[in-house]
Amino acid sequence: MRKTFRYRLYPTKAQAEALTGQLREACTMYNAALQERRDAWRIAKKSIGYQDQANQLKEIRAEGFTGLANYSCCQQVLRRLDKAFQAFFRRLKTGDTPGFPRFKPHQRFDSIDFTNGDGCRLQKNGKLRVQGVGHIKVKLHRPLEGVTKMIAVKRDAGKWYACFSVEVEPKPLAPSATTVGIDVGLESFAVLSDDTVVNNPRHYKHAQAALRIAQRRVARRKKGGKGRKKAVAVLQGAHAHVKNQRLDFQHKLANDLVQRFGVIAIEELNIKGLAGGMLAKSVHDAGWSGFFQKLAYKAESAGRSLVKVDPRGTSQRCSRCGGEVRKELKDRWHECHACGLSVSRDFNSAVEILRLGLSLVSLTWPVTVCVGTEAVCLS
Ligand SMILES: [Zn+2]
Repeated sequence: MRKTFRYRLYPTKAQAEALTGQLREACTMYNAALQERRDAWRIAKKSIGYQDQANQLKEIRAEGFTGLANYSCCQQVLRRLDKAFQAFFRRLKTGDTPGFPRFKPHQRFDSIDFTNGDGCRLQKNGKLRVQGVGHIKVKLHRPLEGVTKMIAVKRDAGKWYACFSVEVEPKPLAPSATTVGIDVGLESFAVLSDDTVVNNPRHYKHAQAALRIAQRRVARRKKGGKGRKKAVAVLQGAHAHVKNQRLDFQHKLANDLVQRFGVIAIEELNIKGLAGGMLAKSVHDAGWSGFFQKLAYKAESAGRSLVKVDPRGTSQRCSRCGGEVRKELKDRWHECHACGLSVSRDFNSAVEILRLGLSLVSLTWPVTVCVGTEAVCLS
């Protein structure tokens, strides 16, 4: 399975300039390739594919029209554009109204990709050799595992990183008969079926005051001035900090769940639908999709089962007797008149999600789930 390792790079001033130059060249190529596809379509109603563009690379490079040092790196730029087009056509087919792939400003073109060993390689001395740039100092804060396939060199908020995409063998944990259902919500980040409440860290909300000040400072500085550049750097740094906090939180929680439980049941969420509504900011801030992604690959690697259940009705059904208990979004308590179960709404949902999840996996051991204060045998 694939895994990514991200390391901070410490280029010298000259190397940083060279890296910036490489990004610029990649961006220029991306935009030129996009222009070519647009023109071909507009003028001749002809569609140009990746291979058509890749076939021109040799000549373009021989004529010295690009400063992008590595050949496979050029191919990757064209592949990235091709992916953008494929996504565009895929969405057209499904009846969406996607935006046509856009030209990118060089400030926003933040990464170049290499096939490992072709133009980019981690040297024995622990430095990263990047063709056209040199040997860059890397901080390997944890050992690189597996077989490296691709390396992306990235710029993020003024800092440089190397992202190694590696193929690793899964590392199964000892089997476990413990199970958990997870209900994600806005009030708390998640409620587990063992009645643990994972609080919502709301990093973005907490940082909002600082972000607003940084944003205002950018707006007040003169465009193109030195002061504005500095203010932008501060703002980007503040955003990067929030992002890192969120990722850290997600990784730790996912690790913890995978360590503790053999079967993990979650809802299949329509996050896209949710994120369009009035709670958009909160939904994005919570970052459930990122969390579920991490949970999925960690569970796969550890040999745990992750089951996704149909979310419809999970909050309206009683987890003990299966009866319907109608609730509005504001009703935070589950009160079943049929069987007398009286628990918090999210906890009831979590248990219901677990029940649905277990009905989807075939289990070879008896599973005991705690509902309220009673133990209920489910199989
Ligand atoms: Zn009930």
